[in-house]
Amino acid sequence: MFKKVHLRLTLLCAGITAVIMLVMSLCYLYVSEKGLYRNQFQAFQNDINTISTNLEQQNVISMEWLSKMEAQGNYRFFVLDNGVPFLFNQLNDPADSGSSRLLLESRDSRNKLSEQNATVTVSDGINGTLTHYEYEFSSPSTETRYFCSVIQLGTGSSVLEVVVLSSLQRLELQMQEQRVRFLLIDIAATILLGVFAWFFTGILLKPIAENQQKQAMFVAAASHELRTPLSVILSAAECCRDATPERQEGFIRTIYQEGLRVSSLVTDMLTLSQSDSHRFPVRKEPTELDTLLMNSYEAFEPLAREKSLQLSLTLPDGALPLCDVDPERISQVIAILLHNAISYTPDQGRIELSLARHKERFAVSVQDNGIGISDADKKRIFDRFYRVEKSRSRKDHFGLGLSIAYEIIKAHGGSIQVTDAEGGGSCFTVVL
Ligand code: ADP
Repeated sequence: MFKKVHLRLTLLCAGITAVIMLVMSLCYLYVSEKGLYRNQFQAFQNDINTISTNLEQQNVISMEWLSKMEAQGNYRFFVLDNGVPFLFNQLNDPADSGSSRLLLESRDSRNKLSEQNATVTVSDGINGTLTHYEYEFSSPSTETRYFCSVIQLGTGSSVLEVVVLSSLQRLELQMQEQRVRFLLIDIAATILLGVFAWFFTGILLKPIAENQQKQAMFVAAASHELRTPLSVILSAAECCRDATPERQEGFIRTIYQEGLRVSSLVTDMLTLSQSDSHRFPVRKEPTELDTLLMNSYEAFEPLAREKSLQLSLTLPDGALPLCDVDPERISQVIAILLHNAISYTPDQGRIELSLARHKERFAVSVQDNGIGISDADKKRIFDRFYRVEKSRSRKDHFGLGLSIAYEIIKAHGGSIQVTDAEGGGSCFTVVL
């Protein structure tokens, strides 16, 4: 399921970014091509202005000058006297039918042009009236677009016409190259984006996938834990129906005890689920930690004595400042630690509950000389439903105590850790 989500997220992220990039590239291309076209037209206009000034000032049009101009730039010149082409270039050469076709096409386009599309200027020069047409046309024979400028000198029966054509082929080629370059860049960037999106969405989804896996494991472990007492309750109820009144009492006691187990397990699971959904109520208030520890000591002392364990309490000398904690929750943590210490310490063992102050912090520790915890297990004992193999048989331990303690301490902004106690056993330290 996560693979599908991963793929979809990658496609979504990369797709959206690629579309934005494509739109930006198209905008850039549009602006850039407009600029290139404008520049080319500007350069053409400047050249035409120079040519028309030269033509105006010369009495005779020098063919040499025109061919020099043609050789220099990207221009084609045609000179016509009263509409008849001069033998300046190979217009009359039957081999160069392309030139005459081009000239005809340029004339056709001029005839078809409405006045709005062409720039027409009329001025009085030294050698008579100078009429200047400027327009753009597309030649079907060469499949190229041209800027065309027609300069007409004189009026009536004596009209000298110079037609200048500038091919836009090079500009179009430049634009095409630019488009291909942008397309390649966009494709490469989209592939890169896809790779990055796959990588980053993978990082984003990792904790969600882990969380989902943890949830699934939690549900499986919870169902497993609930199944055992429930099946005992069901079979006890079944037996109770047909049992004699004397035996019935035993079955009812079993049902009650297993019911208590289920209830305590459900309470633990509810606490953890509240913590997961950040609905874990922590009501902090200034608390005397030493008094809180004394109360815990008094509560567990009889239980320890029952198991022939020696429970001791060590408190710092003198008055202590108040600590801002939820007293009920912290008592719950101490109860979990003491309960575990009593459970995992053999008879005649020692358990020490102590409080120490380090500057602004308080350290509550529960140390025992019991069975101890291996280094590998130390890393996992705060996980939900985790129990060290040898403690699995204990009926009143579900492997949730330390995970609840961990969540409570986390909600207080403190820390909880386990170390080996000197001479064997374990030492749990809570820093608040
Ligand atoms: P449980 O309800 O099973 O005690 P916890 O979460 O409180 O669950 O503890 C997890 C596991 O850590 C226990 O099953 C036990 O194996 C180990 N453990 C906890 N406290 C001690 C201790 N004081 N000494 C040895 N092992 C301990």
